[in-house]
Amino acid sequence: MRTEPGVDDLLSLFPPGTHTDDDGTLVVGGCRLDDVADEFGTPAIVVDEYALRRRAREYLNAFRSRWLRSDVAFASKSFPCTAIQRVMVEEGLHLDVAGGGEIVTAIKAGADPDRLLLHGNAKTDEELELAIEHGLGLVVIDNFDDIDRLERLLPRGSRQRCLVRVIPGVEAATHASQATGHARSKFGLLPDAAREAIARVEHSPLLHLEGVHTHVGSQLLDVDQLAAAVAPIAALGTFETYDLGGGLGARYTYDEHPPRVDDYADAMIAQARALLPADSRLIVEPGRSLVARNACTLYRVTTVKRGVLTHVAVDGGMGDNLEVSLTGQRFEATLVARVGGGETVTVVGRHCESGDQLVDGVALRDPAVGDLLAVPVTGAYCYTMANQYNGARRVPVVLARDGAARLVVRRDTWQDLVSRDVD
Ligand SMILES: *Cc1c(COP(=O)(O)O)cnc(C)c1O
Repeated sequence: MRTEPGVDDLLSLFPPGTHTDDDGTLVVGGCRLDDVADEFGTPAIVVDEYALRRRAREYLNAFRSRWLRSDVAFASKSFPCTAIQRVMVEEGLHLDVAGGGEIVTAIKAGADPDRLLLHGNAKTDEELELAIEHGLGLVVIDNFDDIDRLERLLPRGSRQRCLVRVIPGVEAATHASQATGHARSKFGLLPDAAREAIARVEHSPLLHLEGVHTHVGSQLLDVDQLAAAVAPIAALGTFETYDLGGGLGARYTYDEHPPRVDDYADAMIAQARALLPADSRLIVEPGRSLVARNACTLYRVTTVKRGVLTHVAVDGGMGDNLEVSLTGQRFEATLVARVGGGETVTVVGRHCESGDQLVDGVALRDPAVGDLLAVPVTGAYCYTMANQYNGARRVPVVLARDGAARLVVRRDTWQDLVSRDVD
């Protein structure tokens, strides 16, 4: 049986600094969430900009203070909009981009192309052409066809810097959809094939082998599993750069206790000291653990229906949060005006799927139609998977900073929903 969390437990899931106003209303980034809802409507993703900046700095310091030549590359796919990528760039992070679309947003965000790193297990000619055209710093070779394509597309006389992605052979304790490092993975090459790819890249006049890359999975809560990424790439030889991937978990619920960034860095760097050349460059690619906690999603309650269960339905759902149905991730929730527990309810969305639940069993205090509901820890993989199912208008993103709220991605309009229908 879970013990009922208190108000402080709930606040601890929101961005650091989140508090309640004198009348009990939730305040994120200095902004009352009822004011944010009045101004920008619901559903909406609200990001605490300063909290996000502090987290980016915490990451960079954690690694730089332990390993001289280290870089943190934000895994853009976890929250790939211009404003978020720009924050990361301004804080000194590199960006990891998965495919052409994220190159476009990163360039619009003002990123130095030399500090972009392109991933993808199925890169197309078009995407590689975009990478070449913008002069991306690093392309991560996932398969032999990437090498063929690059050799065909690169202009004579150029030299594209590359990493070769290696399957680490680590069975990560996470949801199957989030484990990428096991031997059956579609991402990267098994060690023998990786050696062959490394040799090909080394002999190519158009490519420069800068190093190797690996990634174990996502939402990992055990530093030893994350640190297990180092040995498989160390075994491939001596290189200029070792990219250790991302994957550190975020805290979604009261009973989860993910490692702190410092503990994560300790574990990674201990392995690096033992196994990698001291003058090599390390890259880590956090996504989720950078952004998840620093945003929440605001909804309006549309109906409260009492039956076998009490269903509290809101004006969003799987159109703005696919994590619940895709990975089974549990979230918490609270009413914005009355933080903390009361009656146990099931929070459901507006979509035509029974699986469209936001929280299965959460205590809300006197939920009623018109109330605002906030779901914390929605900074990662929510905006990015927003969709138009059931004619949903995709969610806007609002940055809250020092009491001022600024719209950085607008909501879809009704017109947007038909704008691609050419006939
Ligand atoms: C998804 C991904 C990341 C980021 O993972 P998080 O769990 O969000 O930290 C980093 N590197 C690669 C190659 C990825 O695919």
